[in-house]
Amino acid sequence: NRQIRLARRPVGPVRPEDWARTEEPVAAPEEGWFLGRTRYLSLDPAMRGWLDDRPSYLPPVGLGEVMRAGSIVEVVESAHPGYRVGEFVSGTFGVQEYVRSDGRGTHRVDPALAPLPTHLGALGMHGMTAYFGLLEVGALKEGETVAVSGAAGAVGSLVGQIAKLKGCRVVGIAGGPAKCAWLTGELGFDAAVDYQNEDVRRALRTHAPDGIDVYFDNVGGPVLDAALTRLAMHARVVVCGAISQYNNEQAVQGPANYLSLLVRRARMEGFVVFDHAARYREAAREIAGWIADGRLTAREHVVKGGVDDFPETFQMLFRGANTGKLVLELT
Ligand code: NDP
Repeated sequence: NRQIRLARRPVGPVRPEDWARTEEPVAAPEEGWFLGRTRYLSLDPAMRGWLDDRPSYLPPVGLGEVMRAGSIVEVVESAHPGYRVGEFVSGTFGVQEYVRSDGRGTHRVDPALAPLPTHLGALGMHGMTAYFGLLEVGALKEGETVAVSGAAGAVGSLVGQIAKLKGCRVVGIAGGPAKCAWLTGELGFDAAVDYQNEDVRRALRTHAPDGIDVYFDNVGGPVLDAALTRLAMHARVVVCGAISQYNNEQAVQGPANYLSLLVRRARMEGFVVFDHAARYREAAREIAGWIADGRLTAREHVVKGGVDDFPETFQMLFRGANTGKLVLELT
């Protein structure tokens, strides 16, 4: 059983030496447990935060521990009455080839409903994040103008599409012309802003002339600051994440333009998707319906390889090398 463990706490960007590759024998499951073989690993920006020894919504990954990760495993041996060989199960099983589980904290995945990687993206945590972040925290209303950063990523691409389904005008902010063309050409966004080559503030003025009612922020930093200058009255700024700040060696850079919240009588609210777990099933059903009707595109960026490829693949998120949900398929 090959595994990736945390060897050292990174300072700034994660380095290869921060990980350790280990191998241990695969033991048969005891009564009430099953053995799963990892098929797909989810790679998430939030993983960077789990490596820091500071209080957060989850305890940090301990030194020497198998890296925490969501994944889909296939049951290959079972001594659990509720799990049959060949079934697929999703859970926080870690970056390893095999896992033993008693089923707690996991859920069964139906490959007939959607391809397996989609269960880690649009039908998994990222779909839930987009859905509850936009509709509950953002309190979106029909006809409003929505701007979303990280728009070509796992969460952002779903946020924009859900906002379109709800009858809103949507402006996506992403890095590079190819991602922007995908947003407007294939996902139906009304406009896209290439933050690497355009003045975001000016572009938002053009594309959201009446201001932004909901700004869904995945990146923080200068893009957040630009969006804050374009808020409509009573706007909602949803703090989903701040990937531009995760590798900082110094403190997180806060928004300089926060006083626009005062002027616009706006609010800025953070959230953690886990708080909405009681309604995941309902949201997943609705999202699955949109996918089945062809009204929502679930895109995964699948990299094939082994557990050993995790460290390098993870870095793709910070280079913007993924479009859609980044997944490592263990081959
Ligand atoms: P993405 O698929 O969006 O991948 C990350 C993307 O971020 C990259 O493709 C890149 O796109 C962009 N990016 C990287 N570095 C920077 C930078 N310095 N400035 C601006 N953009 C950058 O990841 P996810 O969809 O998995 O996650 C999106 C956000 O949602 C993250 O902040 C994550 O932490 C957060 N999250 C929050 C949850 C919650 O409960 N609050 C739950 C799940 C995720 P580009 O090419 O456009 O730069």
